[in-house]
Amino acid sequence: MTITPLMPVYPRCGVRPVRGEGCYLIGERGERYLDFAAGIAVNALGHGHPHLVKAIADQAATLMHVSNLYGSPQGEALAERLLKHSFADTVFFTNSGVEAIECAIKTARRYHYANGNPQRHKLITFKNAFHGRSLGAISATDQGKMRDGFEPLLPGFDYVPFNDLEGALAKIDGETAGFLVETIQGEGGMTAGSVEFIQGLRKAADEHGLLLILDEIQCGYGRTGKMWAYEHYGITPDIMTSAKGIGAGFPLGACLATEEAAKGMVAGTHGSTYGGNPLAMAAGMAVLDVMEEPGFLEHVTRMGERLRQAFEQLIPNHDHLFEEIRGKGLMLGIKMKDSVVSRDFVAHLRDHHGLLTVAAGENVFRVLPPLVIDESHIAEAIDKLSAGARSFAPAN
Ligand SMILES: *Cc1c(COP(=O)(O)O)cnc(C)c1O
Repeated sequence: MTITPLMPVYPRCGVRPVRGEGCYLIGERGERYLDFAAGIAVNALGHGHPHLVKAIADQAATLMHVSNLYGSPQGEALAERLLKHSFADTVFFTNSGVEAIECAIKTARRYHYANGNPQRHKLITFKNAFHGRSLGAISATDQGKMRDGFEPLLPGFDYVPFNDLEGALAKIDGETAGFLVETIQGEGGMTAGSVEFIQGLRKAADEHGLLLILDEIQCGYGRTGKMWAYEHYGITPDIMTSAKGIGAGFPLGACLATEEAAKGMVAGTHGSTYGGNPLAMAAGMAVLDVMEEPGFLEHVTRMGERLRQAFEQLIPNHDHLFEEIRGKGLMLGIKMKDSVVSRDFVAHLRDHHGLLTVAAGENVFRVLPPLVIDESHIAEAIDKLSAGARSFAPAN
């Protein structure tokens, strides 16, 4: 047998972490890495945060799981706190990002169905989008590497270039249900939606009776220095997905919606065995406890500015490698010159300088540190990055 015990769908690298300590990961042989990947924007509180660890341990000992057939004081408590921090009136808890996307797509279709317009089922989505790996989510992106060989996909999606408002408006027809868009594209290349684009989608949704669904699985939950990325745009969505940082390592996601947008989601229309169980709710509560501490989001903004400034100083010294900085807050990316491959540079930083970052589309490498980093971590990352830039010899 040559297939690996783990289905070989990931190009796994040589790093084999066995322990985490704050902003560091420790591998099998005791080697240390500065973790500026954070499980791809997941470990917002770093590794082993004592408040999160204790909350999970205590809840595990008290009540880990019950069915959604029963009332959920734990779920209600987290839902109320989340709603207080957002545009939404109601939330469905999931175990992952893609399940939140599935819930969002279903909620949008049911909205028009409930309004007597079941033909309005199509979502306008965007090139280079990433919404996860379910059949619904891969149907909502044009990226061939995720779709090839999985046809027939779910019908009902139109694709237009990201940040192309005109293109999006031109796709609206009598079957359109709404827009599904990442406020800031992560996987696709760390491209922020322009203000005109995001505000334009909101306006068009209002004018045409469509729903604006924002995917904030990566860019939300404090990552950009605001609780939600949409707060940078002066608008609110009708439906929004959250995951990644919301559990800070515990598998948790959420689909949030206004009362109006969720009008079709009545008893029996949706469900999940694990979604919102007491253990996940305890994790979510503990993450929010930390994020609600005074100054938490301001700290993210300040660290994001520091990191960006440091990148700005670094780039001119290595302008054969780096082209531009993208992103917001602690969701940053550096686009590399065409002559180098960001994936190779990520591997070089990891293997030779002990710095973990993540590759993204459009030849970008992503820097997604825990939100709790301090100046010393930034200084260390910049040292490693400049040493890495000096020692990196592009393969060609
Ligand atoms: C990670 C991600 C998803 C998918 O989340 P999973 O938890 O892997 O299912 C969806 N959308 C965006 C923007 C993401 O970054």
